[in-house]
Amino acid sequence: MLGLMQDWPLLLHRIIDHAAIQHGGREVVSRAVEDGGLRRTTYARIRERALACAKRLTREGVKAGDRVATLAWNTERHLELWYGVSGVGAITHTVNPRLFPEQIAWIIDHAQDRMLFLDLTFVPLAERIAARLPSIERYVVLTDTAHMPETSLKGAVAFEEWLAESDADFVWAAVDENAAAGLCYTSGTTGGPKGVLYSHRSNVLHALACATPDFLGLSSRDTVLPVVPLFHANSWSLAYSAPMTGAKLVMPGAKLDGPSLLELLESEGVTLTAAVPTVWLGLLQHLETKGASLSTLKRVVIGGSACPRAMTEAFETKYGVTVSHAWGMTEMSPIGSFCSIKPAYAHLEGDALYDLKVKQGHPPFTVEFRLTDDAGVDQPWDGATQGRLKVRGPSVASAYFRREDEPILDDRGFFDTGDVGTIDPGGYLQITDRSKDVIKSGGEWISSIELENVAVGHPDVLEAAVIGVPHPKWDERPLLVIVPKPGRTPAREAVLAFMSGKVAKWQIPDDMVLVEAIPHTATGKIQKTALREMFRDYRLPA
Ligand code: ADP
Repeated sequence: MLGLMQDWPLLLHRIIDHAAIQHGGREVVSRAVEDGGLRRTTYARIRERALACAKRLTREGVKAGDRVATLAWNTERHLELWYGVSGVGAITHTVNPRLFPEQIAWIIDHAQDRMLFLDLTFVPLAERIAARLPSIERYVVLTDTAHMPETSLKGAVAFEEWLAESDADFVWAAVDENAAAGLCYTSGTTGGPKGVLYSHRSNVLHALACATPDFLGLSSRDTVLPVVPLFHANSWSLAYSAPMTGAKLVMPGAKLDGPSLLELLESEGVTLTAAVPTVWLGLLQHLETKGASLSTLKRVVIGGSACPRAMTEAFETKYGVTVSHAWGMTEMSPIGSFCSIKPAYAHLEGDALYDLKVKQGHPPFTVEFRLTDDAGVDQPWDGATQGRLKVRGPSVASAYFRREDEPILDDRGFFDTGDVGTIDPGGYLQITDRSKDVIKSGGEWISSIELENVAVGHPDVLEAAVIGVPHPKWDERPLLVIVPKPGRTPAREAVLAFMSGKVAKWQIPDDMVLVEAIPHTATGKIQKTALREMFRDYRLPA
């Protein structure tokens, strides 16, 4: 027997409709790419322009199932386009501009995108690769006529001019809730780029689950600054969950440096913000040099790579801002877990609290965990046994785009994340490593993440990375690579001594080297493959 409730497909346009009706006057503030100034609009206006965008896309011939690419920062125009594209049943393909030009060209060609909407910043880049983008029929620059540059891009037009030829008299396309709505390629921390194809339903459910109190915990009283870009897996849901809840949005545009972020956090009264650790490294350094404080910020979400304990402590003890450590991946839309405090741990404070907070936390409803060994046998949730982490849920990928015949799920329908970790009896996940980065020493596994975490706690260390290097007896041993704070040159002995007592003795790195910079991926993660390449000829001290 079927239930007798209404059929109300979970379509993305309902989010911006709700925001416009219930929170129509709520502001969306953006830092303009043109001149760094602030532009102000509202959810009601965003919806109108998204409708106009949808109508204009239809006139371009864009229809359900077509891919429309963006190379763009977080701004209100990107948001209008984002809702406009899914509003005609087409697919927003947010391309990560930090990838190598060859990768960008490959991805756009693989996706067979029909139009490319790009910020001024990326016009030279697009011109360089345009010859390799035969599927792109037209380029739209996200600016107004006054700022439109001379360009050779096919059919190039300024967004404002393009949009002015349209109006909001449009009815959102009534596609199936399982229809594709978004496309994002993994940046290839491991292997080549793979397309994850989100649906309306998967994105709505993901945003709903993320908005609940133990996770993003958003309300109409919040002001949210998504530093994490739309092109980094749906800005961790914020471009959906903020309008869904009526939270004010502050879009940082192209300026993600410490001073620019601090200015926005303070002038717009931001209460919640989210980004990868490298971004917060910049902000914390700036706060320290300026002796500044954070007057309105309550929570900072840190994920994408492990949040070092020292970073959590700095935010919480020096600035009174609660850190929410989050874990996830493109294939998971992307949120997989959040480290919020369950009641059984509410009494924790000091070191014990920070021991818990280095963990990646527990999953929201809609995400199921499984921990297995290499043979697929379930492992105990005892907080000590390491295993391969597998996940299942309505917002987890079931296959990659245009690779539909390659199975990626196990016998029980779980997706192997490629991450290795432990789960404790309280249900908290702790990621040890990517399976490819874990250091295999004498049959034991050493967590590079744990060592990095401890090393960055040293007062002279800005950033730390640990890789495994060959060892005749132990197979591999850890090598610590350090970027010192400006003007400091920490000695190898001092840093290794600092680490002793904080990790098991046999896990202490065999050596430490200083470098000027550590290579990062397009999503801000330490690029272990490049680092291993850098130290290919390195030999451990005898
Ligand atoms: P890519 O693999 O393309 O860089 P993702 O953003 O999808 O893109 O990366 C997901 C991976 O990032 C995870 O599988 C995990 O290894 C790592 N990761 C994400 N968040 C965390 C975290 N909080 N702690 C440790 N690792 C993390």
